[in-house]
Amino acid sequence: MKKNISVELASRVKHLPPYLFASIDKMKQKAIEKGIDLIDLSIGDPDIPTPSHIVNAMKKAIQNPVNHRYPSYEGMLSFREAVSCWYKKRFDVKLDPHKEILSLIGSKEGIGHIPLAFINPGDIVLVPSPGYPVYATGTLFAGGKTFFMPLREENNFLPDMDVIPKNILKKTKIIFLNYPNNPTSVTAPSQFFKQVIDIALKYNIIICHDASYTEIYDNEKPLSFMQIPGAKKAGIEFHSLSKTYNMTGWRIGFAVGNRDVLAGLGKIKTNLDSGVFQAIQEAAIVALNTDNTVLSEIRNIYQERRNALYIGLKKLGMHLIKPKATFYVWVKVPLKFDSMGFVSHLLNRAGVLATPGNGFGEEGEGYIRFSLTAPVARIKEAVDRISRVL
Ligand SMILES: *Cc1c(COP(=O)(O)O)cnc(C)c1O
Repeated sequence: MKKNISVELASRVKHLPPYLFASIDKMKQKAIEKGIDLIDLSIGDPDIPTPSHIVNAMKKAIQNPVNHRYPSYEGMLSFREAVSCWYKKRFDVKLDPHKEILSLIGSKEGIGHIPLAFINPGDIVLVPSPGYPVYATGTLFAGGKTFFMPLREENNFLPDMDVIPKNILKKTKIIFLNYPNNPTSVTAPSQFFKQVIDIALKYNIIICHDASYTEIYDNEKPLSFMQIPGAKKAGIEFHSLSKTYNMTGWRIGFAVGNRDVLAGLGKIKTNLDSGVFQAIQEAAIVALNTDNTVLSEIRNIYQERRNALYIGLKKLGMHLIKPKATFYVWVKVPLKFDSMGFVSHLLNRAGVLATPGNGFGEEGEGYIRFSLTAPVARIKEAVDRISRVL
């Protein structure tokens, strides 16, 4: 008998930054085995089910044999028209469904793939830190170099564009931004987007704005980057049905904006995937037409949870960022801890699981992220338990 072949990972995989969330998973597993009644506030995945009118639309669409065949990679025209109507209604932004909208198998798919369309070895991609990890891994897979833009509290968690060196900007092909922001929960003002558009036009940089959380807000409706004059000249916006309609498992999102950028992403997609299952697109059309009362109910649920956690932790004297949107709360760890140390303290002593901020990049060190993806009673209990171990 021959030995197994020796399996060696490619260097692009070997050189991935360490995946902190795997060690969190281990800690979590251990806690559960010990019989701890765990309150898991670590995952960015809604606990609320997909609204039933969307599920029912899927039931109907799946019966239709037309939907069983390969979809088109750019998405059904009816889906793209629904996206166009939604952008007009929600943001007063006009989009041509033929050239300015592309369906995605979740926005993560588009975010991960876009560097492949535009990055040559050595090209720079500007990536926020802390940030959604896919911006950096997509860049690495394409052979690009990441230049991390720190998001700091003194700058309202916006990158300071003025300190990025000119020689970096000259080699930059893509900038990733994400507002409302995961993990810090802040929103961006239009002046900031304007400043980035000016820089992008000057240095020929593609702006990729990740807008996954525009519908999950506290009081003020967040902006779409597409509302800013000049946005279409300089970039695209990624959007998703995952967070807005509690559809993370369905895998559908879309990108809108600059047609040449979308065409480049489309070239990658035609060679790698075959589009989104049409029955899911049919259900997504129904989702995009969802009555505002359903969405305000979802927002109210998060608002109640947000208040419970924010006010609760504030009363304990913790330093935390006032959340404007998303379903996260970004909390500074007490001085004697680092992020990982505080997460394991809370897990082992209080049975509450949060995500260490450094899992989102070096600049997240010193913070932890709570997700509001548990019922309000559990969140109140989490605060109560935390109060006993601080
Ligand atoms: C959840 C999330 C995504 C991915 O959403 P999908 O559409 O489900 O792939 C993208 N960006 C951010 C910041 C997210 O939090």
